[in-house]
Amino acid sequence: MTPALPDGVERRTFGGDDEWLATRGDPVYGEPTDGEWRRWDARRSKLGAMFERGVEHGLEGGETVLYLGAAAGTTVSHVADFAGPTYAVEFAARPTRDLLDAAEPRPNLFSLLKDARAPETYAHVVEPVDAIVQDVATRGQADVAVTNRRFLREGGRLLLAVKTRSEDVVADPDAVLESVLETLSEGYEVLETRSLEPFHEDHFGVVATPR
Ligand code: SAM
Repeated sequence: MTPALPDGVERRTFGGDDEWLATRGDPVYGEPTDGEWRRWDARRSKLGAMFERGVEHGLEGGETVLYLGAAAGTTVSHVADFAGPTYAVEFAARPTRDLLDAAEPRPNLFSLLKDARAPETYAHVVEPVDAIVQDVATRGQADVAVTNRRFLREGGRLLLAVKTRSEDVVADPDAVLESVLETLSEGYEVLETRSLEPFHEDHFGVVATPR
């Protein structure tokens, strides 16, 4: 059976027959909206793809979330629509400007212009969280998850998007995933891994919990 979506995430239609993931909030990136709900396109979001692929995400809605690799806020704005306090870490200044715009009507979305490899630089701001969502798409993705584990409550969830080509463009994706999982095991018990195709090529979704 497909896991239930978190409270605050629904499947809705937007003028056609197709059902889409949707959250309630102000539009951010020109996505269709019915004035209340806005479309969440899994092709533009690894977390959306995890929901579509039926991953056991463990989210119920209302969680405190640390989001690593927020970019311009496409996915993290949807997260803030259904979650509680949402800390969005992004180290590139340019997308952070759009992220600040996405946060403006969302009082629970806190943008942090920080490097996720240096969690000590935001440890004074971020409270213990129920979930870490990570989509940094750079080499060393597992190290970033391990070093941020300190923020995750016991029994919490890491929802990690692994872009295998970011680690090694030529290596076999399954071998890259194996090596990522080995590093992750330094801090986490891995509960599930799932390919995110056809929504995202060369990507896996990984669900883990702190050891
Ligand atoms: N998660 C975003 C979404 O769905 O809307 C897309 C994220 S994009 C694939 C990856 C982002 O991670 C980029 O904006 C990049 O600048 C950021 N990033 C990569 N390494 C990072 C790091 N060490 N600290 C903070 N941000 C990082």
